[in-house]
Amino acid sequence: MIQFKEVFTIYDNDFMALDGVNLQIKDGEFVSIVGPSGAGKSTLLRLLTREITPSRGEVMVDGVDLSQISGNEVPFLRRKIGTIFQDFKLLTSKNAFENVAFALEVCGAPVEEIEETVPKVLSVVGLNDKTKSFPHQMSGGERQRLAIARALIHRPKIILADEPTGNLDLVNSYDVVKLLMKINEIGTTVILATHNREIVNHVGKRVISMERGKVVRDQIEQGKYII
Ligand code: ADP
Repeated sequence: MIQFKEVFTIYDNDFMALDGVNLQIKDGEFVSIVGPSGAGKSTLLRLLTREITPSRGEVMVDGVDLSQISGNEVPFLRRKIGTIFQDFKLLTSKNAFENVAFALEVCGAPVEEIEETVPKVLSVVGLNDKTKSFPHQMSGGERQRLAIARALIHRPKIILADEPTGNLDLVNSYDVVKLLMKINEIGTTVILATHNREIVNHVGKRVISMERGKVVRDQIEQGKYII
């Protein structure tokens, strides 16, 4: 369960990026967060990964107030939460297998575990025939699916996707969002921040609309992109 309780984020001590946000997201939900550029969508996601802490209020994940956790607990939080970005953030000098393996290597996972887990995750995203390809040899859609594989490697409870289709054409955007829906069907909470109206309307699940740091609409079921 994710909870935002009266959350304010003030950047540089004067710009109010979040203005009293209250939200509750249950385990297993698929939530689209929509709103114009600057509305505060990425700020909400950055609070969940503890990249930033709120100026006021509480952000809770599974009952834990993220402002209260210590620096050495942050990596454990981040294993619970996989993240995907518009610009993929892949390692250009590593192939597909190595990009995913790296996320396990930095945690000290044994070679046997890496060799067993990475092909399974690449197969979930439909990239088992691309294990040796480097990002520059892959299409945008394939790169984003690789980024999703990397985000899945620790079997996270939550996936945060910040404009994941921002660099993709409509066909690849649908592929990526179908994959996110499949991941959600197996029980993962998915939070998708996007401008993409077609995609949000296709998903047809909960839609939270933000404007100038406030939640202005929360459509619980069969939500549409309305701004
Ligand atoms: P969105 O994801 O909806 O486009 P953001 O959460 O990125 O919105 O940003 C909300 C507002 O906060 C914007 O006006 C942005 O310029 C401002 N902002 C974001 N990050 C910072 C920062 N690190 N320092 C100062 N202002 C910021």
